[in-house]
Amino acid sequence: MSGTTSISPPEEGLKAAVISLKREHPALGIAKLHALLLSENPGWTVSEKRLRRILKDSKGVTQPQQHQAPEASSETHLYPSSTLVEGLDVTKWSAAVEVKYYDRNKGKGLVAKEPISEGQVIWKEDPFIVAPEWEIYDLQLASRACAHCTTPLMDRLSSSPSLVLRCTTASSACPARFCNRLCLRRSEQTHPLLCPAQNPASVPLLGFARRNAWMALHALAQCTARMLLAHQQQGRRRVGRDDGDRDGMEEDWRLYSALADLGMEERAQGSWCVYVPRTCVCFPMHGAEPDRATWQTAHSAFVEAFVLPPEAAWQKKLAKLLKRPTPKEVADALFTYDGFLHGLGRMSLNLEAHGGLYTLHSHLNHSCSPNISVRHLDQRTALSRITIIAKRDIDVGQELVITYVDPSLGVRERRSQLYGWGFGQCKCERCVEEEKGASNNQEGQDQDLERELKAGLGIV
Ligand SMILES: [Zn+2]
Ligand SMILES: [Zn+2]
Ligand SMILES: [Zn+2]
Repeated sequence: MSGTTSISPPEEGLKAAVISLKREHPALGIAKLHALLLSENPGWTVSEKRLRRILKDSKGVTQPQQHQAPEASSETHLYPSSTLVEGLDVTKWSAAVEVKYYDRNKGKGLVAKEPISEGQVIWKEDPFIVAPEWEIYDLQLASRACAHCTTPLMDRLSSSPSLVLRCTTASSACPARFCNRLCLRRSEQTHPLLCPAQNPASVPLLGFARRNAWMALHALAQCTARMLLAHQQQGRRRVGRDDGDRDGMEEDWRLYSALADLGMEERAQGSWCVYVPRTCVCFPMHGAEPDRATWQTAHSAFVEAFVLPPEAAWQKKLAKLLKRPTPKEVADALFTYDGFLHGLGRMSLNLEAHGGLYTLHSHLNHSCSPNISVRHLDQRTALSRITIIAKRDIDVGQELVITYVDPSLGVRERRSQLYGWGFGQCKCERCVEEEKGASNNQEGQDQDLERELKAGLGIV
């Protein structure tokens, strides 16, 4: 009798059990945690809803230290956190802007250091890495777009095919083609680890990213390849760089670690978009539970591509590329499941709409009335290069802002998209202004309705 009776556990007991479970299994989502909790406490009746609330209430204690949410002042919303890139020399790109650190919620941003006038080109920037839009990626796989800078090569292939260069392996397994020697040389930063001939274990990973149209996963593979290869070049002059013989990974690692970050689990708890924000068209369907099985499959493919390929022959090839072992701190941060999810979160938050990750561009915050725009002007020679142009005059000290959403949308739609991507309630001037307008309108409509009703009743 009593053996079949289940009880609703008291709050404190339940809370303690949940916290210890979550600490033990930080990557588990609500559903799995719920199942685990009930299997460990067979007499308990606990709804997923109650579990979710307890997790939410005890967020601070269940999260690993390094990823603790910034202390929100009045709200409990989690914001992406970003830090300054140590030693970043902004003047490499522009003398007109500087980096400013605001606070823990807002993180960093860019402000004008000198007056900027409407139409001015503020800077041009080549990407740190690119995970291009899928149409371009498919052209790369078909040897019809540059595997480094993503520029389509069709014109060149028909007019002067001999100028288009092949991957250095010249293997038929690798479809990579390059615009010129510069692109070929710069591709050494990432290509060897993503080349089907040099690192066959990367093929399943990139195939998985392609099948799932998962741009953040592709971008994370590109970033990882770049950092691991940079570490191999210590003591040698870095490819495509002019900074002599410092360990290139340190610099790349500083940038990567300082990117705005919100882990996938945190995103999932807020029902935020799991795939690529800014280019994701499936919002708001992501309100549903994200598919953790997909994350786990992706994580296995990721580890197999860069750490432990499933076949001995592939392991040998990978070992040839990675002779120097990756520092433990970096390996842990990249390849643990938790680190992987945070890596995906970083990519999702920082990719430019066309899939590039840019050092200076990644500092830009959002406003629904942006004062700068990002263009891909060099479409025929360097598609992935961006040009930042002032949309209006910007005074010294003013922040440079881009828009992450379609600015022609209404305030509710804009806010809901931004919220969906984890940026919280947009409080830019325009949103505040339009919100006021909307509520005034509402009041006006209420008054109209009241008048009509009264008129109908013959009161007026
Ligand atoms: Zn190129
Ligand atoms: Zn290749
Ligand atoms: Zn806004």
